[in-house]
Amino acid sequence: MASNRRAFLTVTAVGALAAAPAAAAPATTGHPHDSRTALAELLAGNRRYATGRSRHPHDTVHRRHLLAGAQHPFAVIVGCIDSRVPPELVFDQGLGDLLCIRTAGHVLDEAVLASVQYGVEELRIPLVVVLGHERCGAVAATLEHLRTGAPVPAHLNLLVDEITPSARRTRALPGDWAEHTMTAHTRWVRDAVRADPAFRRAHVAAARFDLDTGLVSVLP
Ligand SMILES: [Zn+2]
Repeated sequence: MASNRRAFLTVTAVGALAAAPAAAAPATTGHPHDSRTALAELLAGNRRYATGRSRHPHDTVHRRHLLAGAQHPFAVIVGCIDSRVPPELVFDQGLGDLLCIRTAGHVLDEAVLASVQYGVEELRIPLVVVLGHERCGAVAATLEHLRTGAPVPAHLNLLVDEITPSARRTRALPGDWAEHTMTAHTRWVRDAVRADPAFRRAHVAAARFDLDTGLVSVLP
């Protein structure tokens, strides 16, 4: 795991020097969306979800048959495994619409990055959204470890290692430490993906899901 992260950071550091600023990717392959319309579609679907007006689109046998030969999802979602934040429901999308990669605390490793790359390069997806959410268990576990020094069980170490820098940076801020950590971590993941030359053709955004209102807001 540690070597994954080191390799990733090395690539990212090189990419940060070489990468052009993130820009809206043109729909060069006849893809129905560019990054701007893709983000608008996600946010429109989220408004439907948050207000109880979900359409549950693209959920038919006909759609399944249409997609059997090929898929053309319009957004990559890098999100948390939290059972309350399923991207297809949160954005009111359906079969074949989203390529979702979910890890606890939406932490990155090589498998996640390879999956994003598959979406951006092979499927020509114009938009990557890193989706954090409030009251994240992975963030809570990290803060608990930092508060108490208690050992972290086995594989959870990866989560704590990835989220700790954001927790340390925000510890002195007034307000909700967990919320600050989640926001900082989500932005960090966004910036890491943005800086990686493998994803240059896509626009990369960060967003926060509110468990209470059901609303997604794009992070500046
Ligand atoms: Zn979470």
